[in-house]
Amino acid sequence: MAHALVVGAGIAGDTLALLMERDGWTVTVAEIAPTLRTGGQTVDLRGDSREVLQRAGLLQQALNRLVPQRGAAWIDAHERRLAEMPVEAFDGRGYVSREELLRTDLARIIHEATGPGVTHRFGETVKALQDTETGVLAHFRSGTQKKFDLVVGADGAHSTVRTLRFGPEETYRKPLGLAHAWFTLTERPETPPLDGWFLTHNAPGRRAVEARPGHPGHQEVGLTFATDTLPPRHDRQAQHALLERTFADVGWRTAEFLAAARHADDFALDTFDQIHTPRWSTGRIVLLGDSAWCASPLSGLGTALALRGAAELAAALHAAGAPDDTSRTPAALTAFEQTMRPRTTSAQQLLPGRVASMAPKSALGIRINALAMRALQSKAARPLIRKALADSEHGRTTTPTAEPRTSPAT
Ligand SMILES: Cc1cc2nc3c(=O)[nH]c(=O)nc-3n(C[C@H](O)[C@H](O)[C@H](O)COP(=O)(O)OP(=O)(O)OC[C@H]3O[C@@H](n4cnc5c(N)ncnc54)[C@H](O)[C@@H]3O)c2cc1C
Repeated sequence: MAHALVVGAGIAGDTLALLMERDGWTVTVAEIAPTLRTGGQTVDLRGDSREVLQRAGLLQQALNRLVPQRGAAWIDAHERRLAEMPVEAFDGRGYVSREELLRTDLARIIHEATGPGVTHRFGETVKALQDTETGVLAHFRSGTQKKFDLVVGADGAHSTVRTLRFGPEETYRKPLGLAHAWFTLTERPETPPLDGWFLTHNAPGRRAVEARPGHPGHQEVGLTFATDTLPPRHDRQAQHALLERTFADVGWRTAEFLAAARHADDFALDTFDQIHTPRWSTGRIVLLGDSAWCASPLSGLGTALALRGAAELAAALHAAGAPDDTSRTPAALTAFEQTMRPRTTSAQQLLPGRVASMAPKSALGIRINALAMRALQSKAARPLIRKALADSEHGRTTTPTAEPRTSPAT
């Protein structure tokens, strides 16, 4: 039986494992974290995400977990509204929609849908990959080794598989000049309610503080600021000290958030980067998701691309006769890239001003941003925005070239 190794149990890795299992593969997923990684903010169920989940028979479960939201609002330090964008804006196709769920919930739904043909090895990763005549010999951190017919690097923007096979991260990383910390805040009786609104407070000096609805009794908090470099990932003390220095004079609820961040289980801090790789596969090793094409959270398309990429890769392998015959696997990986690359290239082209509008430099920039948010929703601008949204959605929702096997529920 053909056996694949997927490195990384994120959205891309687990979706691929699920689809390949349904096609008859045996799949091992090596995830470096000790358990399934939770955390993250909301992800969007429109476009590609909806379509791939529908085909996988998981859409209804995802719809059952939607976070009730009323819209996005930009506020000053006294929580006065500078601009609002309700979920109804642009016929429900605007910045925040009714169809969003927490990344944690989506990851769990996909993970729990994998069956006995998928073995997860948590706390595990690869330290070397060696090509052989008939497959790839993976050397695991735990000291074991095993040969696979296919190895997939779905291990995120800081991918180890990419480093092992294609070279150091710096060659492929394009920093966007911002970093972002995020975590879940547990509400207390005195916590101001969000009432369904995703609130953003911008402060001069390219700083943004956000709070958005999460699970009942929780808020998802984000802190964005300008930098390309961060303290080492394991040095949490230095990370908090940096945030506290950077946001010391920012008003609104920032002091409360900085204090809560120190105790949050799911606290994370990373730079907003893109990953630009000239090719995604060599032989029987392929990159998938953020490891291959991270467009950054600013694109709003990370999850959609991860889901679509997994469906396209499963479809390409199926079309090449795998898992019964894996001799054409390298050609399938090339075909997958040809199909998928135009989407990822387009997703990496962020809208002009996207980075600057996330965290404007000056008080004037913040006011201009709020005016722009209001102007976008004016009667005069609406037809133009509708057309732009329709064009981009059209580009995002073409069907896979061949259909991977779907669950009986579809
Ligand atoms: C905890 C978390 C929270 C996130 N929150 C947001 C968010 O709020 N907004 C947003 O836009 N995007 C967020 N993202 C990124 C978003 O999930 C991805 O852009 C998108 O879903 C593509 O997913 P991916 O599977 O390619 O990568 P990822 O979601 O990054 O998943 C990669 C997986 O690989 C694992 N991994 C990493 N290195 C190794 C290794 N060496 N060996 C084995 N496993 C490894 C990671 O632990 C992770 O489980 C988050 C990602 C994570 C992991």
